Amino acid sequence: MKVFKFGGASVKDAAAFRNLAHIVQHYGGSNQLLIVVSAMGKTTNALEQVFDLAYHQQDHSPALEQSRQYHLQIVQALFPDAASPIYEELEHLFSKLDNTLRHLNKAAGYDQLYDQTVSYGELLASTILHHYLKSQNLNNTWVDSRKYIQTDTTWREAKIDWDWTERLVKRDLPAILNEQLIVTQGFLGGTNNGLTTTLGREGSDFSGAIFAYCLDATEMVIWKDVEGLLNADPKYFTDTIRFKEISYQETVEMAYYGASVIHPKTIKPLANKLIPLYVKSFLNPAGEGTKICDCRYEKLAPAYIVKQNQCLISFSVKDFTFISEKNLGTIFNALSELRLKINLMQNSAISFSVCTDWHEQRIQTLRKTLQDEFVIHYNSGLTLYTIKNYDTESMNNVLAGKSVLLEQRTRTTFQFASK
Ligand code: ASP
Ligand code: MG
Repeated sequence: MKVFKFGGASVKDAAAFRNLAHIVQHYGGSNQLLIVVSAMGKTTNALEQVFDLAYHQQDHSPALEQSRQYHLQIVQALFPDAASPIYEELEHLFSKLDNTLRHLNKAAGYDQLYDQTVSYGELLASTILHHYLKSQNLNNTWVDSRKYIQTDTTWREAKIDWDWTERLVKRDLPAILNEQLIVTQGFLGGTNNGLTTTLGREGSDFSGAIFAYCLDATEMVIWKDVEGLLNADPKYFTDTIRFKEISYQETVEMAYYGASVIHPKTIKPLANKLIPLYVKSFLNPAGEGTKICDCRYEKLAPAYIVKQNQCLISFSVKDFTFISEKNLGTIFNALSELRLKINLMQNSAISFSVCTDWHEQRIQTLRKTLQDEFVIHYNSGLTLYTIKNYDTESMNNVLAGKSVLLEQRTRTTFQFASK
């Protein structure tokens, strides 16, 4: 039993859908396959804007119409038969979304309403894919992942109820997979009272891993527009190399430091059941890709991770006493309450510094919360560089010409924040 996950880029236009069907046909194997799909192209970003407009009582119609046209134009290219049921389903989904946007109950709060609306990106993509694969004689069942991936109500970053999820998946899906393919959504979960949740941006990889775990898959494949897991993002570095095989642990660490290839939560469920994860290129599906598994290598090539839009916050005690564990407790509590994740931290005698992602609102709240106790300074617009398995050469190359605000190194990892 396999899980294939296709991200937004692999369904961004009609040609991409055709290519996807080709991959399912040739690489899906004759056996059981569950397909997880994300929203098409940049739809999630677009819907975030649509929702934000509606939430702030501004006219969301033109932005929503633009997204509808984008989907419609792809559907028209894929379904020449105007009588295809997809046309009606597409209109139905868009009018339901429009209706939801027109009747937002603000008492529910921004994040809960976000989940009820932005989730349409995956509902649309999976509905189109379901019909398209069918038209290519790839029989499949559309499964509503919100009925299987059960979560709490941490809106926009819902936590999985693993036992319940596994029970539901095992109850229904194996029987379907004996008959045909399954097409379902990434990114989405559901609560026990029928509300939609989302698992965090780029969370479709994680969805794939949840299904793979619950179904005891023999492998999962993430199809991407790169040849596999590279040691650096080609956006920032030339001469990247592809890892042929790499351990779960190395991959988790890279994801943790900000490598954007795989969602950080993806690895754990797979590693727990020793399910290998392949990262392959949908542009070159015959390529070898990367195998992420339970393996060990003595010497790995340095991996470079760049995390932009960072903020360095420093806290000093007002009366020149030392930073105490009690002070740290206060700071950590405030960070945790505000869901500000620490990417790097360091303390000195009278100050403590953390590097976090830039969330303007939350950082202002943090300042307000702690300003009576600490003098707080911050620097935004920074970049955090991490080199895993660094050596002198790789370190010097990355440091060249940069002004460093904070630096840290362990035996295997070198990190610094710079302007
Ligand atoms: N569509 C969602 C996002 O763009 C989930 C995903 O792509 O993995 O964040
Ligand atoms: Mg996406």
